[in-house]
Amino acid sequence: MDKFLRRKDSSSRTDDEEPSTSVTKNLKKIVKRKYDEDYIKYGFSWCGDETAPRPQCIICGDQLSNESMVPSKLKRHLYSSHPSCANKDKQYFKRCLEQNKKQKKFMKSAVTVSEKALEASYHVVKLIARQKKPHTVGETLIKPACMEIVRLMLESNEVKEVNKVSLSADTVKRRIHDMSSDILGTLIKKLLSAEKFALQIDETTDIKNKAQLIAIVRFVD
Ligand SMILES: [Zn+2]
Repeated sequence: MDKFLRRKDSSSRTDDEEPSTSVTKNLKKIVKRKYDEDYIKYGFSWCGDETAPRPQCIICGDQLSNESMVPSKLKRHLYSSHPSCANKDKQYFKRCLEQNKKQKKFMKSAVTVSEKALEASYHVVKLIARQKKPHTVGETLIKPACMEIVRLMLESNEVKEVNKVSLSADTVKRRIHDMSSDILGTLIKKLLSAEKFALQIDETTDIKNKAQLIAIVRFVD
């Protein structure tokens, strides 16, 4: 009887132990590994959240999980994926890292400039459309004028940036088309969601004796 009780007791103990081990397992999972400056010798820097950094390969840019932030796993990646770099020293990887950073910066600045140029192009085209000016006004007047203003009032190297804004007749035509189809799409969406709307259509002829159809729509937005 005692034995039985003890057994039961011991078994209950193991039952108690099991959840506790699972708790420690959970804790182990939560453990966040930190980046060690020394890991650069395995060709790794880090990225992502500072509290749970992820190892990033300097050579191929691959990102591993935070759990892989241990020398053995970093070493395994280096030896299996980049055997030619396995015997390189810290200095080599540091140089690679610096180069990567420079390239990233260059790429980022190139992207932001082209994005800005694109936005500027749309804004100028909107002005051209609103003033009902010919599509060629962008390349024949607006852009040269802007470049002159920037050259005289700002620095001459800024002129290059202004030159990146595309304002050719084809671009102006395409952007106007883009914007009008976007407006049309938005209007149709709004009309479909509005319960009621009034449509007024009128026809007329312009000075060239060509038929023009005017449609006016009213709705509660
Ligand atoms: Zn790699």
